[in-house]
Parts: sequence; C-alpha cells; structure tokens
Amino acid sequence: MLQLFYGGTFDPIHNGHLAIARAARDELSVPVRLMPAADPPHRAPPGASAVQRARLLDLAVQDEAGLRVDRRELLRAERLPEARSYTIDTLRELRAESGDAVPLALLIGADSLLGLPTWREWRTLFGLTHFIVADRPGSPLDVDLPGELADVLASRWTSSPEVLGDVPAGLVYRLSHPLQPESATEIRRRIAAGQAWRHLVPARVAEAIADERLYLGQAAGPGPL
Ligand code: ATP
Repeated sequence: MLQLFYGGTFDPIHNGHLAIARAARDELSVPVRLMPAADPPHRAPPGASAVQRARLLDLAVQDEAGLRVDRRELLRAERLPEARSYTIDTLRELRAESGDAVPLALLIGADSLLGLPTWREWRTLFGLTHFIVADRPGSPLDVDLPGELADVLASRWTSSPEVLGDVPAGLVYRLSHPLQPESATEIRRRIAAGQAWRHLVPARVAEAIADERLYLGQAAGPGPL
C-alpha cells in the first residue's frame, strides 16, 4: 500500500493543511502522516517551537480518521542536534525502513513544487518518492513552469491513484481539491496584529494557541512603561 507523508513547518497547522490532508486521504484511500519539521539548529524558532507545533498537530488530528502525526524529524534532531534536517535525509530513512519496493509519496503544496529546484538533491528525490501536489493560490501549475522543473516533471504526471501504488517512486499526482487560501505566515501576522484568526485553524488548536500565548510577537510585550 502507498505510504503517504505530509511534511511541513506547521507553524501553526491550519485549515488549509487539514483540508488537503483529508483530500489526499480520501482521493488516494490511504492514511496521511503529518510530519512536523524540527527547529533549525542555532536559531530561535521563528514562531512556536517544534514541540509546541507538534502538540498543535496532535490536537488537530485528534478526531480525524486516517490522519496521524509522525515525529521522526523531531526525534532525529534530538539525536543529531547539530544537523539541519533535509527532506532527502527523511526519505532515505523511510526507504531504509520500508525497503525499495514500497510506494512512498510526499504531499506538498503547489508553492513547494515550484520551489523544488532549491531543495537539496532535488532530482534524486524522484528516485525515492512520488509527489502528491495540492494547488495553492498564487502558485499556478497550468503555466510554463521554470525550464529545469518542467523537464523533470514532463513525463511524470499521472491522474491515476492506482498507478501510484504500482511503482515505488517517480510520479506526480495533482489533487482535485478546491483552492485553500490559508497560510501560516498570514495567521501569525494576524495574531500579532490582534486581527481575527481563530476561524482559520481547528477550534482546539485555536484554544491552545490562545492558552499558550503563541505568536503574539511584539504585541506580547508589556508596552510602554
Ligand atoms: P507559510 O505561510 O509560513 O509559508 P504554510 O502555510 O505554507 O506556511 P507550511 O508548514 O510551510 O505552511 O506548509 C507545509 C506544506 O503544506 C507545504 O508544502 C505547503 O505548500 C503546503 N500548504 C500549506 N498551506 C497550503 C494551502 N493553503 N494550500 C495548499 N497547500 C498548502
């Protein structure tokens, strides 16, 4: 069976993430493992810490059949605190566990697909995994893609969920799901600016963000004395 992973910073997880995870689960009929990224070494986390982000993910998937949280990147960072975490390393770890024959897939948004040539060893990724792509506002896929990406993708598109399960890696499948406007950057900005944001995340996640006073940024300070 296809093993489907969804990596991201999830800072914080929002309704857009959840909607595409559900869509992938339902279209491909497989569970989705949400895999929060570790904090980069030697830098204060930009929003919430990896532990806090993963906890928000736990709350978000609590009542969601077929959505799970996979903490492997956090655990690797505990083992190797000096190393930055790259997708290629995670995929090699997954391959070492599952063997060469098991079909693996990574769920990404269209902005991530367009940025793929900046990922470490990006061409090698196609030997290790399929990609499941969710359209995203502002990241059109029906235009001329940058040359090297277009070349690599040209022969890889498939619209058949079954075919993804037949080969271990190398194909790209586009989800048929309506566009989701949410963005974590925008949610952090709204929280810090005191604007409405709760409707953009699951209710339990909103409660936890408020309780832990996350993402308040400058607005969290004591103000002028
Ligand atoms: P930021 O706004 O800070 O860039 P984000 O909302 O993109 O954050 P990430 O954790 O970086 O959140 O996203 C993880 C993955 O989910 C990425 O591949 C991203 O493209 C995808 N994604 C996030 N939000 C959406 C969305 N609204 N629609 C489609 N894909 C999305």
